[in-house]
Amino acid sequence: MSVLVVLEQRGALKTCGLEAVSAARKAADASGMSLNAIYIGKSLDDEVSLLAGLGIDTVYAYEHDDLRYYSNDRYVPLLCELVKELGAKVIVGSATSLGKELCASAAARLTAELAQDCISLRWDGKLLAEKPLYAGKVISEVSFGVLPGVVTIRPNVVVVEREGEALPQVVKRTLPELPFRSVIQDVVENVSGTIELTEAKIVVSGGRGIGGPENWRVLQELCDTLGAALGASRSAVDAGWIESSHQVGQTGKVVCPDLYIACGISGAVQHLAGMRTSKIVVAINNDSEAPIFNVCDYGIVGDLLEVVPKFAEEVRNAQ
Ligand SMILES: Cc1cc2nc3c(=O)[nH]c(=O)nc-3n(C[C@H](O)[C@H](O)[C@H](O)COP(=O)(O)OP(=O)(O)OC[C@H]3O[C@@H](n4cnc5c(N)ncnc54)[C@H](O)[C@@H]3O)c2cc1C
Repeated sequence: MSVLVVLEQRGALKTCGLEAVSAARKAADASGMSLNAIYIGKSLDDEVSLLAGLGIDTVYAYEHDDLRYYSNDRYVPLLCELVKELGAKVIVGSATSLGKELCASAAARLTAELAQDCISLRWDGKLLAEKPLYAGKVISEVSFGVLPGVVTIRPNVVVVEREGEALPQVVKRTLPELPFRSVIQDVVENVSGTIELTEAKIVVSGGRGIGGPENWRVLQELCDTLGAALGASRSAVDAGWIESSHQVGQTGKVVCPDLYIACGISGAVQHLAGMRTSKIVVAINNDSEAPIFNVCDYGIVGDLLEVVPKFAEEVRNAQ
């Protein structure tokens, strides 16, 4: 019996996959099951060292040029076949758009129970997972009645824990002949040259308070100065001021940076659901009664169009 974790990659291994391993490790240890992982991608060779100390016994690596990009009809059969071969009882992926689709498809094929977007996993005679509801106001405990169970772990909530430097055994698998219905020729990134929001150490986000899309340049200047990623509230996205890939919150991305700077964001519970685990939160808002001031570590009451450029200037002076 084993726990099988999906090591997500987009060209390079994603941190969310390592977080999923750490979440799964607790359940594996408590249940006595082995902890294995599946890699589907171009090549794991240069990145095996990233798996040191994670407690993975074996990584099954399906490597091929054609597996570089996610494709449902390629990835799902590979995952399901390995689950059956290993007799895996717990399958853990990441609650990213890729991971959620892969795991839901695999759960359907395996007739397995599924819990998406969980924040922890444990074994107490049975598989249990914690899942936030109502924008994080309630944490529910999902109990799996039968196994296998499939769980996706929300990125940026589990700390990657390492013990020692032992590397997993890597077993390279040859790609079976699969009927490919789709061929991905190329992937064009939405935003090139900018920092990935969910992996950024610093995030500067703007809301309706920025007043219009022409003012993103003010926030972008601070991003460039700090080496930060640009986030947004849903109001800013809904207004058509920025693409939805920047949205932070319950229906957007969950971020957990060292520093989150909320500019012209009121602090609605749905927005907080995506950034409340940030280590330090700075709020800039011209309304001293804005709820964001209840959750921030540092608050500046003022017009962001005045405060943010001064902030950026001070940072530059200090550099
Ligand atoms: C099911 C559901 C899911 C949702 N999911 C999300 C989500 O994922 N992410 C999300 O963000 N929201 C989400 N929302 C929407 C959420 O409820 C709020 O409506 C939204 O977060 C508000 O965005 P905002 O703070 O930018 O706008 P507002 O609430 O309008 O706040 C704007 C703020 O800017 C301040 N301001 C105005 N001018 C200035 C200035 N010049 N300088 C400084 N401050 C200024 C104002 O004082 C105000 O506090 C969701 C809602 C629902 C119902």
